Amino acid sequence: MAKTPSRPLHPATRLVTGGRRSEWTGTAAQPGAVVNPPVYRASTHLYPDTAALKTGPAKNEDGRFYYGRRGAPTQWALAEALTEMEPGAAGTMLYPSGVAAIFGALLAALRPGDVLLMTDNAYEPSRALGRAWLHEFGVETRWFDPQDPAAFAAALCPRSKVVLLESPGSLTMEVQDIPALAEVAHAQGLCVIVDNTWAGPLGFPALTMGADITVMSLTKHVGGHSDLMMGSAAAGPEWYAKLRRMAQLTGQVVSPDDAALALRGLRTMGLRLQQETAAALALAEWLAGRDEVARVLCPMLPGSPGHALWQRDFTGGCGLFSVVLRGKDAAARNALIDALELFGIGYSWGGFESLVTPLDPAGTRSATPWPLPDMDPADRFGVRLSIGLEAVEDLKADLERGLAAWRGAEGA
Ligand SMILES: *Cc1c(COP(=O)(O)O)cnc(C)c1O
Repeated sequence: MAKTPSRPLHPATRLVTGGRRSEWTGTAAQPGAVVNPPVYRASTHLYPDTAALKTGPAKNEDGRFYYGRRGAPTQWALAEALTEMEPGAAGTMLYPSGVAAIFGALLAALRPGDVLLMTDNAYEPSRALGRAWLHEFGVETRWFDPQDPAAFAAALCPRSKVVLLESPGSLTMEVQDIPALAEVAHAQGLCVIVDNTWAGPLGFPALTMGADITVMSLTKHVGGHSDLMMGSAAAGPEWYAKLRRMAQLTGQVVSPDDAALALRGLRTMGLRLQQETAAALALAEWLAGRDEVARVLCPMLPGSPGHALWQRDFTGGCGLFSVVLRGKDAAARNALIDALELFGIGYSWGGFESLVTPLDPAGTRSATPWPLPDMDPADRFGVRLSIGLEAVEDLKADLERGLAAWRGAEGA
């Protein structure tokens, strides 16, 4: 950005101006000469003399040339833009994937002998970290019902050090009462980590709602074009220092080319989120009225589970939601998916194109059953939809084709 703003900026404006320091977008003679920071492909950073070489690493400040593993202006600009969008953040660390960011946050906060509490609806690779790596290194993970703050309080013990929340939760979209859970956690001295990939800071300013560390998979909406993998973790001063120390010790770095792509994605993220949120809401409403559908899991939809909390705590949504089909089996559900022409079949979400994956969470829960207690046990299979930027009418026609295939399929 060319000039220092004279008044506080709206988040939509910060999305455009963030990270555009004039010394990163120009030369000493012509600061701020271009809009975007160039792609600095650099491992070695050079020093004018041995005295500077000696003092450089000791300083190790953000935004100073040192060595490629600490990044260069392209990565610094992205990290700074993310920090500017995140109310309460002192800084943001970048990681080569969202999973690496979750790992980086856990590593900064846990030590052998500690207990990690994890919401039962967490992203499966987060669960796998608890089951495998953390377990092997002496950290015990306990899962709790995302909808039940009392169960969370009851699960705490003197060894509990961290709670990992995710709201809405992967696949099943439960909204958690994060302010209430964080209050309980903080009373016991726990660090609260929130996987905030779904809403991002525009929809849920996690650090102001009780999170100590907020994590995002930038692979999703920030990248936005299904062409990069990256993650971030942001925090206030105390936890940012710990995140930064651990990220530096373990050599976390992202490529400048990917950082430039992520910055490009970030500039239009607000607009994309608005469009896909509106489209997802329209489709969720339409699906909720269909006979084939037992339940729509979309917190933005009035009457859907979690809507009241979403309305209370969130300022935005996104295009990701799930649909539980009425009865039948996995084969019928697969017939629905295979009949779709516009929805790509594949993992990830938050790109410009619509995607679909099977929903069958029974095997990925340990503290709560699936189907949920208030659901018909026959309603088990469904789909998760990531709504992209296609015309809603075309997506509706595609889903209509899928539902017809589901109706035509065998199944109880
Ligand atoms: C995709 C995802 C991640 C992991 O991100 P990657 O960049 O794919 O490693 C973490 N949390 C949630 C909720 C996700 O959907």
